[in-house]
Amino acid sequence: MKQPSLKKLTQKWEIFKMIKLPLAEQPHFVFQGEGRYAGQKMLLLRVQGCTLNCPWCDSKHTWKMPEEKHWIDIDEYLNDKVSNKIMITGGQPSLYIEQIADLVDAYPEIDFYIEDDGSYDWSDNFNPIDKNVYFTFSPKIDNGLQFAQRNYNYLKNVDLKFVVTSAAAIQEVAHFAETFGIDKDNIWIMPQGETRAELFSLIDFLCDKTLVYGFNFTIRNHIFIYNKKRYV
Ligand code: SF4
Repeated sequence: MKQPSLKKLTQKWEIFKMIKLPLAEQPHFVFQGEGRYAGQKMLLLRVQGCTLNCPWCDSKHTWKMPEEKHWIDIDEYLNDKVSNKIMITGGQPSLYIEQIADLVDAYPEIDFYIEDDGSYDWSDNFNPIDKNVYFTFSPKIDNGLQFAQRNYNYLKNVDLKFVVTSAAAIQEVAHFAETFGIDKDNIWIMPQGETRAELFSLIDFLCDKTLVYGFNFTIRNHIFIYNKKRYV
């Protein structure tokens, strides 16, 4: 895809500022670390606010609901490293579905990669024919499967990513996939871990089990590259 010009992007960012998405960090360019799009350069927008309190969360600084200081002017991030891919993660992007839908409408030439827990229904705000939006939902086994199926059925370009530590959890994912008719090619198993050591301790046997069930497997590239270092 042809890269949009810097001038055009700058005009678009003026629209972005009006849309008001609260951010937990200064936007910065990263390589996507997980799943189908791992390794691709993207501008990371990490939203502020999350209601889920997952015990393994590596972004606890996003949990607090947004305050005025989280409305960040991102003009300065437009530089020669510009990418036409934007990742929106959290925190919990589903708290801002309407704002994100406005953002997608305002930037038809940009591809959006939305990483969310998937415990809310996105299908009311996103038309299934939206081609420049790629969802990765990471539902919790015991919470969030309710909308996972609906989001999967009504949106385009949907992957489901499950964070696991055991073979039993992969078995639960298999049960879910079979019950709701989810294509295995759209399911990703990811080991839980915030450090290289934690990931290394799980990768071997989880890889083997994932293959047995016929799912995809993803590591967390950013942990292997940066370990616990943030904002890189
Ligand atoms: S949904 Fe994401 S940001 Fe929220 S607690 Fe869970 S892992 Fe952390």
